[in-house]
Amino acid sequence: MTGIYIHIPFCIKKCAYCDFNSYSGIRDMSYSYGKAVRAEIKNSPYKNKKIDTVYFGGGTPTCIDEKILIDILAAVREHFDLAEGAEITVECNPGTADFEKLLALRRAGFNRLSIGCQSADDKLLKKIGRIHTFKDFENCFFGARRAGFENISVDLMFGLPEHTAEIWRGTLRKVTELGPEHISAYSLKIEEGTPFFEMKSRGELSVPDDDANREMYDAAVEFLKDRGYFRYEISNFSKAGFESRHNLIYWTLGEYIGFGAGAHSFAGGRRFSNPLGVSDYIDFVSSGGRAEDSAETEPDIDMMCEFMFLGLRLDNGVSEREFKKRFGKNMREVFKIPLEKHLNVTRALASGGGNIKIRPEYTYVSNLIMSDFIL
Ligand code: SF4
Repeated sequence: MTGIYIHIPFCIKKCAYCDFNSYSGIRDMSYSYGKAVRAEIKNSPYKNKKIDTVYFGGGTPTCIDEKILIDILAAVREHFDLAEGAEITVECNPGTADFEKLLALRRAGFNRLSIGCQSADDKLLKKIGRIHTFKDFENCFFGARRAGFENISVDLMFGLPEHTAEIWRGTLRKVTELGPEHISAYSLKIEEGTPFFEMKSRGELSVPDDDANREMYDAAVEFLKDRGYFRYEISNFSKAGFESRHNLIYWTLGEYIGFGAGAHSFAGGRRFSNPLGVSDYIDFVSSGGRAEDSAETEPDIDMMCEFMFLGLRLDNGVSEREFKKRFGKNMREVFKIPLEKHLNVTRALASGGGNIKIRPEYTYVSNLIMSDFIL
């Protein structure tokens, strides 16, 4: 499977916790940006490759003119072999996509919508700097259904400032009542360079401690399971058959080609990425630059570590047979020490059916376990 990622780095306003490659106040550059992305697609050395998933992420793709997104998707169709039934996702934030916009996107072929809701509590939404209310989210969700989106994912966050278990359960209840096909639930991370980081350093931000975060995570797993959402990755839950095919490509070390500012690619066994800033990216493309030209082949050992690190995030874990097929080596020999430690001593890993996975009760310390696989 091969996926295409398109980065749309525009937002109406930066959220207080966000360290993504996104910018506010420069949406007037979106037309020249769209043109640059189309040129990058046209000049890609991977042209005509069969593509199974396309993902427009951001930023907030829906905060710019939808024609820009539609034209980029048309360029993908023109220059790549888009598979019948390909998953085509666009990220969207409430308040930036009315019914007409959603309908235009659906008609152009986008068939999966990922909506950033984060919380059903308006006070919390305001506190974290979101531009919308929960009512805006509901309107966006209903509009998307009316426009014909039958595969909708909702992003939620826990561990927010002054977040309580009760507010979190209320969010889970209200969102699941709408019946989205997929839910992502991430814990807030305070990243350097964000307003939240500064506030925390000054002692002005109070966030739930590790135990409270763990309780919220466990509550989500249990609550969502009861409502038919199965955890297939640490932070991702879906109804049967609605796992994110695009993200599964990342987690199984599949091939993906990124277009746009800062977009990363992993293709032909090599990794490469574009310049981060919007102007830098536009200049780079218009002067004939190609990220592929600076690509480096990753040593096998790094790839093996990554295979383990990413695969252990999945509910199914990592396949010993797939490892052998891909690297020609025995996983148990390459990772003898961490496997013995976690299979036999901590017993945080379980082995069965040719797969090795993290036991559910150890999910919360998965980062510690996975870090042992960086050799
Ligand atoms: S909408 Fe998303 S990408 Fe934009 S600032 Fe907020 S979190 Fe960051």
